[in-house]
Amino acid sequence: MDKTPPPIEERLLRLLHHRSEGLKRGEAIGLPIENTSTFYLPGDPQDGDYSYTREGNPTWTAVEAQLSILEAAPALAFPSGMAAISAIMLTELRPGDKLIMPSDGYYGVRAFAANVLEPFGVSVVHWPTADFATAPIEGAKMILIESPSNPGLDACDINAVVERAHAAGARVAVDNTTLTPLLQQPLDLGADLVAVSDTKAMSGHGDVLFGHVASRDAEAMQRVATWRKVSGAIPGPTEAALVHRGLETVEVRLARMCSNAMAIARRLSRHSKVSGVRYPGLTEDPSHQIMAKQSRDFGFIIGFCLPDKTIAENFLSACTAVTNATSFGSVHTSAERRARWGEAIPEGFIRFSVGCEPLEPLWHDIQRALETA
Ligand code: PLP
Repeated sequence: MDKTPPPIEERLLRLLHHRSEGLKRGEAIGLPIENTSTFYLPGDPQDGDYSYTREGNPTWTAVEAQLSILEAAPALAFPSGMAAISAIMLTELRPGDKLIMPSDGYYGVRAFAANVLEPFGVSVVHWPTADFATAPIEGAKMILIESPSNPGLDACDINAVVERAHAAGARVAVDNTTLTPLLQQPLDLGADLVAVSDTKAMSGHGDVLFGHVASRDAEAMQRVATWRKVSGAIPGPTEAALVHRGLETVEVRLARMCSNAMAIARRLSRHSKVSGVRYPGLTEDPSHQIMAKQSRDFGFIIGFCLPDKTIAENFLSACTAVTNATSFGSVHTSAERRARWGEAIPEGFIRFSVGCEPLEPLWHDIQRALETA
């Protein structure tokens, strides 16, 4: 692969046309879903043959081609974001190694560290994302970054952490779920590996779980590929096809979601019932400067506080254009009272994922629900 990654616009153009590049006359332009466990294979297997779907399937090869174009790096598909992150951790870390991970990132990754990595003998240091510049990097084998973090939206300077980590002999993995590779390219910023939950904005319709790992380190990718094959953590062809379809519109969806989020964050920050608005696109937001430097846009997730649990629940019930649900990144705006999962955040904190609806009617619904809450 070329050492200088192509600009994101070129990657997006190729993403849309990659399938037609290899088509023979009369072949389907739409991606066929190859629902098969096994392939007709007489004689000795040869390099590149499909044999058994745990080792490879043409429908996930097609989505991996798209992901690889976006990341400008080889990519491997997984059945969820957690499967992608755990594949990185279990192929990079050994008993006795030290991992530094965000104390304020996605709680599922902390649960994985507590339930699997620590009993396996990895020592885990939890550190706030906003302070990663001062994380105790000495002796660490791996640093896991999630910037901006979910749900607090704190950010760190990825390239600065990478330089410090590499100087200390540590490797850096980035969970790039909250922004996607369209809005932020951790591999271009020097990270060794990246994992993304494609369940969110990448597939974009809330109808599938999926994930991927990408890296320009061929040996690391070989370990991840072997892990996937022997552990059986493989995506299904139907899920792969849904993600393939979603990725064809990811750029336009994200453009609308980010511009809606910017407008809604500005309006929320002026509303008398709302406090503590977090949206990295607001110039006063603590993550603004770092993200203006390293990201193409500021994303579609907003955090804000309502005065208490009851008002927050009333607000969510009163909305008709905002689905009360966990997860984020869909074309449909959704929100939840995040403290219901037991995270150490205020009871009235709302994590708000902005979708693709027309802005004014969406805002009207939010405003009406705030008044009645
Ligand atoms: N990383 C982040 C930042 C997330 O928010 C999530 C899910 O919410 C995941 C990883 C896990 O992804 P999945 O649910 O696809 O396993």
